[in-house]
Amino acid sequence: SRKKVVSEFLFFEEPMAHVLHEKIAMERELRRALEKGEFELYYQPQIRLDSGTVTGMEALIRWNHPEKGIISPYTFIPVAEQTGIIIPINEWVIRTACQQTKQLLEYFPNLSVSVNLSPYEFENRRFVDKLARLLEETGLPPHHLDLEITERMAMDTEQAIAILTKLKAIGVTISMDDFGTGYSSLSYLTDLPIDRLKIDRSFVRNIQGKKDAILPAIIRLGHNIGVKVLAEGVETKTEAAYLRDKRCDEAQGYYFAPPLPYEAFLNFLRRQQRN
Ligand code: C2E
Ligand code: CA
Ligand code: CA
Ligand code: CA
Repeated sequence: SRKKVVSEFLFFEEPMAHVLHEKIAMERELRRALEKGEFELYYQPQIRLDSGTVTGMEALIRWNHPEKGIISPYTFIPVAEQTGIIIPINEWVIRTACQQTKQLLEYFPNLSVSVNLSPYEFENRRFVDKLARLLEETGLPPHHLDLEITERMAMDTEQAIAILTKLKAIGVTISMDDFGTGYSSLSYLTDLPIDRLKIDRSFVRNIQGKKDAILPAIIRLGHNIGVKVLAEGVETKTEAAYLRDKRCDEAQGYYFAPPLPYEAFLNFLRRQQRN
């Protein structure tokens, strides 16, 4: 039976070693990608539902791999977070988003860009200073930058309040991303200095059911605590109309536009302006 134990051990260890090896290989690849400039930001517009105007955009990272083509962040962000290489990657994201948004402001002066933060970053003491430095370096006025955090990052409410207060003092705005999918209780919400709730797209998917009570409740909750509400993953005209009817402030999703490369996003803005 010792033999059996050994073979089981091998059976379980080998795939794990394989996974570890893959992670190390990918970290090396990510480092190289950063040096070679293989990352690119795509921008997805955020639309005000009552007027149809573009209020801003979410910056979403893509990896243009020389052999594998475009790689989704779902594939590499988790590994980047586990290995710590997310720190220089997100620095690149913030710098690039600020630079490109600064350019866009010349023609579209009211735009605000949203970037996704990582838990690591959020808890790092030096992040506040780093952010202030990046804003200064790029010349983007702070109120044109929005930081997306998740409920998971706000689980330690005291700590989150302290960090968010410092970030807000710089002048940026804060959005709670994927709202409704986290584990935390709702009571923390009123205590956090946030500006906007982004309702996760899983709630938007239920609209067709007609009996949906959750979406209107979340929208009212947001308004009751004095924050704006944006619905994510809006794919149809019906969904957009329903959300507008329920007084949801903003929406984002394939119905309006998918995430677009900078030039295509600029063209989207120009078309919108003409209409
Ligand atoms: P997320 O922040 O929830 O971003 C929204 C995701 O939903 C994006 O996927 C977007 O392409 C997709 N999406 C937008 N509209 C629709 C729609 O109408 N229907 C459906 N089914 N999907 C839609 P993407 O770009 O693949 O990003 C995936 C996740 O990767 C993001 O989820 C975010 O958590 C993470 N991520 C992306 N860029 C960055 C980044 O620069 N830094 C960090 N830390 N994370 C990032
Ligand atoms: Ca997001
Ligand atoms: Ca989201
Ligand atoms: Ca998400």
